[in-house]
Order: sequence, then C-alpha cells, then structure tokens
Amino acid sequence: MSAAIIDGKAISNAIREEIRAEAEALKAKGVVPGLAVILVGDDPASKVYVGNKEKACLATGFHSVVHRLPAETPQAELLALIDRLNADPAIHGILVQLPLPKHINEKAVIDAIRPDKDVDGFHPVNTGNLMIGDESLLPCTPAGCIELLKRSGIGIAGKHAVVIGRSNIVGKPAAMLLLREHATVTICHSRTPNLEAIAKQADILVVAIGRAKAIDARHVKPGAAVIDVGINRLPDGKLAGDVDFDSAAEVAGWITPVPGGVGPMTITMLLRNTLTAAKRIHGIG
Ligand code: NAD
Repeated sequence: MSAAIIDGKAISNAIREEIRAEAEALKAKGVVPGLAVILVGDDPASKVYVGNKEKACLATGFHSVVHRLPAETPQAELLALIDRLNADPAIHGILVQLPLPKHINEKAVIDAIRPDKDVDGFHPVNTGNLMIGDESLLPCTPAGCIELLKRSGIGIAGKHAVVIGRSNIVGKPAAMLLLREHATVTICHSRTPNLEAIAKQADILVVAIGRAKAIDARHVKPGAAVIDVGINRLPDGKLAGDVDFDSAAEVAGWITPVPGGVGPMTITMLLRNTLTAAKRIHGIG
C-alpha cells in the first residue's frame, strides 16, 4: 500500500473538541446551542443514527431534544411540530431524519424548516446560497469531505476534482464546495461513458454512488486523494465503501477508510452547523 490513510475519526475528534470549547465560551454569553432531531417511525438504521446524534450533542455540551414519532404520524402533525421548533428560542438546529414514511412528502417537510435552523443544509434557500456563494448552512457529509482534505494538508485550489455521484445530498453539493475552493470540477454519474478514463484524471476523487467497491485502482491517478463517501453493508455483515480500498490504496496518495473516514465527519459537521446557527441567530461573531 502506498497511500496515506486519512483518519476521519481522529480529525473528527479534534474538530469536536474545538466545537466543545466554543460551545463553552458561548455558554458564558448565555447561549447553549440546541438541536432538535425528529424521527418518524422505527427504521433500525435511522434509530442508530439519531441515537448517535443525541450522544454527540450531549458530549459537546449542547442542548439536545429528540422527538420520536410513530410511523403513522400524519404529515400535518409533523409540520405543526416543525412550526413549534421554528419558534422555540432554545432550538437553533432542526433535523428531520430521512427517509420518512411514504405518506409524508419529504420536500414539504424540508421546506417547512426555518432556513437559519436547517442544520442538514437541505432547504432550497441553503442549497441556493451554496450555489451563489452566499452565507448558508452547508450539507454535512460534503462539508466533512472538504474538511478532511483541508486538515490533511491536501490543497484543493487549481486541482482537478472528479465527483462520482450526483445526489442532492452528497454528489452535487460536494461538487459545489470543491468549486468554491477553486478546484476544476467534473461530475460523473451512472450514465457517464468512459468513467474510468475521467476518474483517472482526478487529483481529488470523491466517490458517492452506493455501490460496494465499484471504484478501484483502474480509476485512480497515481498520487490522487481518494475520498470514499460510500457506506455499504456486505453479505457477511461488514461495512465497505464505494471504493475497493486495498486496490485503490496501491495507487492513491491519500485515501479514506470505511468505516473511519467520511462517516464520523457527518455528525461533526452537524454539530458545527448547530453551533454556527446558534451564533448567527444570537448575532454573535
Ligand atoms: P444516491 O443513490 O442518492 O445517489 C447515487 C449517485 O451515484 C447517483 O447520482 C447515480 O447517478 C450515481 N451512480 C450510481 N451508480 C453509479 C455507477 N456505477 N457509476 C457512476 N455513478 C453511479 O446515493 P447518495 O445518497 O448520494 O449516497 C451515496 C453513498 O454514500 C451511499 O453508499 C450512502 O450510504 C453513502 N452516504 C454516506 C454518508 C456518510 O455519512 N458517510 C452520508 C450520505 C450517504
């Protein structure tokens, strides 16, 4: 293996410590960052994610509230709860855990969250502001990818970044953030011909496709930084990324493992967004 491993867990822990210290300083000014998470139904993976978010909030000194609603909760009831949280001065961040049960319109729910409390960064106002480069709350996973690159000392400006995947949650915002950092950006997706040849031109390769080990050494330029967003459960129960780690690590200069790469950064960026939202709402720094 030639690649240096980007240790997402260590980087994430360092950032959480910075956030905890900032939250403590904020407390001295009478502000405790508050996050409300809403979980509708009992999807096992969502339950784990929500539990992890709650634990991370408490460990960082934040105020944390979790609303666990039954799967059959009517959409109107969920929207009414969001309205109450929009108006609640103790809450600075609102996150509705996705996916939602089929009878609830996801877009209507995201649109109902106050943009300055939208700590997932999915509201159209925040995605629009990201596009035009205005102040916004950034989607957590893509923001985590950028932070991993920066804290590993990997320059982004002037580099060719290739993003594989164009979802609204990961691929598209990751591409916009890389562009904002002055990379030259190419977006590839399931209908891109010559994916291998394009990926191989990348100095920075971000992969978010949801296909276990689909990307390997053949797609990687020697010395490239490979950021693997994928989280896939293999038949043997183990987790794997969208990148074949062993193969790609022979060629890459840097690579994120799965687990322990991008994964831990998502909740860390959620904490950072909640802190940022609290400061903005109270007009602090
Ligand atoms: P998605 O299914 O919404 O989007 C996948 C994208 O990949 C699509 O744009 C599709 O065009 C593209 N694609 C699919 N197959 C392809 C192929 N063979 N070649 C090229 N492009 C292809 O998925 P998503 O929500 O963006 O998630 C992607 C992966 O990232 C998943 O494994 C998901 O579990 C993971 N994820 C991880 C985190 C985290 O916290 N680390 C957060 C969100 C998503």
